[in-house]
Amino acid sequence: MDKSQAPHIDTLLQHTATAPFNPQTGSAPVNLPSMRASTVRFQSLDALEATQRRKAGGERAATYGRMGMDTHAALEQVFCELEGGTHAYLASSGMAGITMVMTSLLSAGDHALVADCVYGPVYELDAALLKRMNIELTYFSAGDDLETLVRPNTRLVYVESPGSLLFQMLDLPALAAFARRHDLVLACDNTWGSGYVYQPLQLGAHVSVVAGTKYVGGHSDLMLGAVITNDADVAKRLNRTQYAMGYSVSADDAWLALRGVRTLPIRMAQHARNALQVCEFLATRPEVARIYHPAWPADPGHALWQRDCTGSNGMLAVELRLSPEASRRFVDALRLFGIGFSWGGFESLVQWVTRGELARHRYWTGGDHALVRLHIGLENPRDLIADLAQALQAAA
Ligand SMILES: *Cc1c(COP(=O)(O)O)cnc(C)c1O
Repeated sequence: MDKSQAPHIDTLLQHTATAPFNPQTGSAPVNLPSMRASTVRFQSLDALEATQRRKAGGERAATYGRMGMDTHAALEQVFCELEGGTHAYLASSGMAGITMVMTSLLSAGDHALVADCVYGPVYELDAALLKRMNIELTYFSAGDDLETLVRPNTRLVYVESPGSLLFQMLDLPALAAFARRHDLVLACDNTWGSGYVYQPLQLGAHVSVVAGTKYVGGHSDLMLGAVITNDADVAKRLNRTQYAMGYSVSADDAWLALRGVRTLPIRMAQHARNALQVCEFLATRPEVARIYHPAWPADPGHALWQRDCTGSNGMLAVELRLSPEASRRFVDALRLFGIGFSWGGFESLVQWVTRGELARHRYWTGGDHALVRLHIGLENPRDLIADLAQALQAAA
């Protein structure tokens, strides 16, 4: 099909994961059901062996339940369409997806360059597992000269853009050029963009990893990860490791993700609109020292965001000219924002970010200021702004 005639992703998301027609009745339910299975049965040994041959030829042909059946296959297809990838591998959480990337692409004695703004638990993975495997990570910040950090045993560049906590935009095409120059794999945590407003593979990355837990699921009711690539060699390595490590996702969770993803386009757009309205309010407040949100024109990453992103979402961080005690009072006074981690669901959340978490991010220059991270949900922004205003009042 001519590229200009290919359906838009908004259209694809409404016409994917539909149930096939029953050949006898000529009818079908709209949605593919949750196909729960621990194993697959075959009509004959011939049928089993034919499936094994198709599998050996690289097809997604299930002979056992662990990799999942049609529901899983449909979700893998969705992740490929979102990210512009050729292969997707599911994991039981976003974090498990990150572990799949690291353990697939790194071996004992290898070195990786990792952006210091990555999801916090990646530091735990490093300390708890990678160090024991004799894999060494060097954390870098945007602006560092990677040419001086790369080593003969460097294999991987692992980043998150925009970064966790402060939403710092990285120059992904520049990182991709660097990776290609040194024959490294570039992997990017794309939970922020979720394939809808940011597409690392199109910007030159080899691997995109997404916590489907967040915007793809969209309803704060499931845990899921996906690793997507368009590189055949990387796909082979991910596939082998996924199989060997016993990664598995419940069909019901895959089904919930399929149900959630149909509304990803309208949810994401509304989160982004609401977040910008909240930014406009926050910018008028003397307590607010700085807003971290790349779609906000005053954010230093705004130009990169304009160049590389096709939209935004509900995530922002607010640097407050408040003492730790006052900023805690602000968080406790909020009524519409749940105090908690995570994001990407329909509801607003607030996270009080600790000094320890911030210390890793060299992008942070706020000194003694407090930082709260907000997820702006699908509530009416007028109510969210009123809630923020009363909580700032209560903090003072
Ligand atoms: C939440 C999150 C993850 C981890 O996803 P889980 O499903 O909670 O394990 C990874 N990366 C980012 C950026 C996240 O926000």
